[in-house]
Amino acid sequence: MTEVKTYPVDPELSARAHITPERYETLYRQSIDEPESFWAEQAEQFLDWFKPWDKVMDYDYSKGYIRWFEGGELNVSYNCLDRHLATRGDQTAIIWESDDPAQDKKISYRELHREVCKFANVLKSQSVKKGDRVCIYLPMIVEAAVVTLACARIGAVHSIVFGGFSAESLRDRIQDADCHTVICADEGLRGGKKIPLKTSVDQAVSHCPNVKNVIVIRNTGNDIPWTPKRDIWYHEAMKTASDDCPPETLSAEDPLFILYTSGSTGKPKGLVHTTGGYLLFAAMTHKYVFDYHDGDIYWCTADIGWVTGHSYIIYGPLCNGATTLMFEGIPTYPEPDRFWRIVDKHQVNIFYTAPTAIRALMAQGNDFVNRTDRSSLRILGTVGEPINPEAWEWYYHIVGNERCPIMDTWWQTETGGILITPLPGAIALKPGAATLPFFGVKPEILDNAGNVLEGEAEGILVLSRPWPGQARSIYGDHNRFIDTYFKNFPGYYFAGDGARRDRDGYYWITGRVDDVINVSGHRMGTAEVESALVLHEDVAEAAVVGYPHPIKGQGIYAYVTLNAGVEPSETLKQELIDLVRKEIGAIAHPDIIQWAPGLPKTRSGKIMRRILRKVASNEIDNLGDTSTLADPSVIDEIIDHRANK
Ligand code: ATP
Ligand code: MG
Repeated sequence: MTEVKTYPVDPELSARAHITPERYETLYRQSIDEPESFWAEQAEQFLDWFKPWDKVMDYDYSKGYIRWFEGGELNVSYNCLDRHLATRGDQTAIIWESDDPAQDKKISYRELHREVCKFANVLKSQSVKKGDRVCIYLPMIVEAAVVTLACARIGAVHSIVFGGFSAESLRDRIQDADCHTVICADEGLRGGKKIPLKTSVDQAVSHCPNVKNVIVIRNTGNDIPWTPKRDIWYHEAMKTASDDCPPETLSAEDPLFILYTSGSTGKPKGLVHTTGGYLLFAAMTHKYVFDYHDGDIYWCTADIGWVTGHSYIIYGPLCNGATTLMFEGIPTYPEPDRFWRIVDKHQVNIFYTAPTAIRALMAQGNDFVNRTDRSSLRILGTVGEPINPEAWEWYYHIVGNERCPIMDTWWQTETGGILITPLPGAIALKPGAATLPFFGVKPEILDNAGNVLEGEAEGILVLSRPWPGQARSIYGDHNRFIDTYFKNFPGYYFAGDGARRDRDGYYWITGRVDDVINVSGHRMGTAEVESALVLHEDVAEAAVVGYPHPIKGQGIYAYVTLNAGVEPSETLKQELIDLVRKEIGAIAHPDIIQWAPGLPKTRSGKIMRRILRKVASNEIDNLGDTSTLADPSVIDEIIDHRANK
């Protein structure tokens, strides 16, 4: 097996970092031994409260009951905007980079505050009140941040739906959260292509009788269908709106938003996040995980339709008074060097993206990276899936020029913020490891029977106590919340992922518990086998699933995407099999390799192994919920070429 490399903490980075190795030790211990005083101190330091809380934390996992800072009162938009005006009103809050490389703009905190106040008044004029659900279906434009913060200002609960979802998926989410107001744009723009958002809204809303208002932002300016009385132009409503809108006083546990998971493992869940704990956790993780300092230019490439966009484009950075970059387009348009060009253009210091983007750009070759400068970069990050060590090394050496540590951040929609992660100045890195828990986070590894495993171990990842950013419920279905996260292993939050803890106490996410493969009694995470496959220089991406095997119980079925220009061959297949045997052992010998020009992914870019498992078992009539699939044609191609007909 390949030796695991360790990249020590850079002393220079550590010298200027908020969290040094010693401070990590001290604070982590305090956060676990004295959680109440630890979190009270953080809540005072990071947030402005209108009224202090009565009780820091209260919980009973058996009832899915989680409360933070009860009795406390605050407003999220006040914390993200108003309180910065005196000291940084003219500082850029958002750098917006258009899909078109020739266009961008900068919005100061003062301007953003003004727009948010105005739109909050527009919402009020449409009788949107505290507690009402508002659906936001927008491209990555500045108005997306404006309307989100405006909801927070008046206590309306936003439900942001990724602008790439179909009318049907949008309809389901509007109905599930019973939204009465929808905010959309005429069209979106991605990679030079127009996305007919308003048309989708019309289709969706025709099945949603409770929707009273559709507020439309003029983005591309093209003609769109219009329903008088129901539809309102954003720019017209804003023209007459007052910019005076005092922030509503909200309780720490008032809901802030509902957000649906990616749907990798089944029907998406509409998680409910609340005000005080969520904001604290987003702000604190943003500052420490990315070692954010005043003046840094910070860019997270996620879409605001995902939790990463919520916590690390909008709420965390703005709460910290940061400059956050919002990108409307895609990494490959007009060319696969777009990310790095944007880094150079805006002198980005901190860059946070996903393994799916890294693997896709890596497959395009190094020239696109090498022709850019990237010397402004200081810290890199990744989230969304396990990052294969091969992709990690490429990100580190080629993108970061061996100067920038990579924060491999493990977390979920349910967790609100990052739970397991390195810290730039404090924690040495191992490619492929999410490393150590953030403050207040106590992971455990269990066996299938629920026994706690100590020391070096592999099994089911759970968390043994709440943290402020934890979701409080599934909207409209609290029983599903209890059943999904708290039933299987009483007393713990069950994350649904597997992990291995190595001898240094580092956590390696091995993949979804549902995806674990059992070959002749040997349990295997998908991440390890996939990482072995992508070590091959011709392989861009791989997904591995189990399928019924007469002798071994389960066999290993690998779907492999080759790099651009590589021809599949039997020799290559054999090379891949040999590579896996060498890296992991004979037990991981892939039984079937299918060449797949594309893999089925969620719209947030995660591989949907549950569908591949169905195909591998020849259960193609029953693929399950496919509503979150990014490109359905990928499945047809995979089904046509399946090995198990
Ligand atoms: P659903 O819950 O609907 O199946 P999902 O789990 O993909 O969808 P998200 O909340 O967007 O929805 O994704 C969280 C999951 O992403 C985690 O549970 C984990 O499987 C994976 N993940 C995120 N970050 C990492 C990481 N750094 N390393 C490994 N896996 C990660
Ligand atoms: Mg999940």
